[in-house]
Amino acid sequence: MKSGYIYVLTHPSDPNLYKIGVTTRNPKVRLAQHNSDPTQLTGRIVKETGHKWELKEFHEVEDPYWAENAFWSATPFADMPFRGGVEVETMTWEQVQLGIESAKKAGIRSKQGSMPDHIYAYTSCLRRSLQGRGITFSGYVKSIVSGRNNFSCANGHQWRTRAQEVIGGKGCPECGLGEMTSQDVMQMMGAGVICLLTHPEKSEFINVGVAYKSIDEIFGKQFFHPWLIHRYRNIDDVALAESLIWELLGKPLPHNKDPIEIDLNVAEDAFRKLIYSMTEEIAFEERRLESLGRRE
Ligand SMILES: [Zn+2]
Repeated sequence: MKSGYIYVLTHPSDPNLYKIGVTTRNPKVRLAQHNSDPTQLTGRIVKETGHKWELKEFHEVEDPYWAENAFWSATPFADMPFRGGVEVETMTWEQVQLGIESAKKAGIRSKQGSMPDHIYAYTSCLRRSLQGRGITFSGYVKSIVSGRNNFSCANGHQWRTRAQEVIGGKGCPECGLGEMTSQDVMQMMGAGVICLLTHPEKSEFINVGVAYKSIDEIFGKQFFHPWLIHRYRNIDDVALAESLIWELLGKPLPHNKDPIEIDLNVAEDAFRKLIYSMTEEIAFEERRLESLGRRE
């Protein structure tokens, strides 16, 4: 298990509005994500008000999920049902301080979510592909292409199929609820492609290119002209991949994403680590949600 941080964000629009989060990454990197990702509640608040979240404080904790659990247990919100893991709440500064004190003392829980990271990552991918489609599923996704999960639609039909079919846009086989084109599912999820780019005349520089499109839609079309696609990865979360690749390249966002001077081998190595790093990050978030869901 990795140690990490619990952090407190405040928002200028309301002195009693707080976002409490945990991360194994640099809290400043998480702050940048919260301010820029419109698929998250924090990002939508930025978009609506024109004001960014600020990092009020952060503390190192041994077991981030457990610390977060301890935070909410020390507040009056502990009795509320699982709130989707959003954790943006109106509370007083005294309540926040009580929660933080409790989180700092939380220590390590004996038992952790024990499944491998990739199962959490597949499960998260399926859940994200089902937003707003009126379809739910049970259990974990052990594999995207083989193995089946139980699904049910809002009209009460139940069926069993491969996660890949549903992520690809298939709806309820009986009433068609949740049927979408695979492009629309990709767009809704913020999926696409991330590319390591090289320049035909500046061999010492690389750049990162992202597109909310499939590789077929951009390959061979000089999409990043004059930059050339040197490596690419299909990814189901472009915003997360972009944030992580810059971190792996040693230049965490936010910045203006200018080309960087770096040995191509080093950049290729960062690209090789990207999928692993994404899986790890998504699994962290999944375990966190699971831990909050089981809060008693
Ligand atoms: Zn149905």
